[in-house]
Amino acid sequence: MVQDKVVLITGGSRGIGAEMVRVFAEHGAKVAFTYRSSAERANAIVADLGSDKIKAYQSDAADFDQAKALIEEVVNDFGTINVLINNAGITKDNLIIRMSEEEWDKVIETNLKSVFNLSKHGARVMMRNRDGAIINIGSVVGIFGNAGQTNYSASKAGIIGFSKSMAKELGSRNVRCNVVAPGFIETEMTESLTEEQRSKYLDVIPLKRLGSGREIADTCLFLSSSMGQYITGQVISVCGGMNM
Ligand code: NDP
Repeated sequence: MVQDKVVLITGGSRGIGAEMVRVFAEHGAKVAFTYRSSAERANAIVADLGSDKIKAYQSDAADFDQAKALIEEVVNDFGTINVLINNAGITKDNLIIRMSEEEWDKVIETNLKSVFNLSKHGARVMMRNRDGAIINIGSVVGIFGNAGQTNYSASKAGIIGFSKSMAKELGSRNVRCNVVAPGFIETEMTESLTEEQRSKYLDVIPLKRLGSGREIADTCLFLSSSMGQYITGQVISVCGGMNM
């Protein structure tokens, strides 16, 4: 489905991103992925997959200049970029009356500005190729909202408007842009939830279970392949039918 395509995934050292690296590698893609600080984990993934088609880069997605340099480095190493998956993200939850300016800024910079940074520089390469797929990882809370997550929900809702606009700008160059919006996925990000919070979420998930990183990765694989080539400007929720 993506044999020999060059795929750049931000935040591939852990969680959903690490599953994406594995799934794309299994399907024969050349995978460049980033991390912010987990060098050991990133190197372990490269060693585990044991392929010279996989490379990890330390790069802060929230930093405009680092994003530009990363795109140049990946093109230098792999020749081009066919698929960009903006997956890096963080949470800093708090009620609005307690939320600090730093908690707001950090989440918006890491989750939303990063998507601008990578897409702006990555789009140039894809427009030149007259081919490309950008997949931005949103969240169902960007659609429904969630108490205690005004910063996170705003960043994920912002990704939707950004992606729909990119789809309109780049469609004529055969560059597609979509959002994959995960629901409640079993990763370190969700590990800190209390039992009470978990059971509250399970009440509103018709499939009555959490999702896996692999299920998000599979959707990204589909969108990246020729099977998804007439899909752009869409938000695809992968959430077990969750309705908050
Ligand atoms: P994790 O916390 O498990 O992993 C986050 C990844 O992002 C890590 O690889 C981390 O690198 C990287 N990262 C964080 N900040 C930066 C940065 N500034 N620059 C580069 N890389 C960075 O998160 P998940 O796997 O759970 O989430 C992945 C995406 O899915 C996020 O966008 C998240 O918002 C979204 N999502 C997750 C849901 C869930 O239930 N888990 C639900 C809905 C959406 P490092 O290891 O170096 O810190």
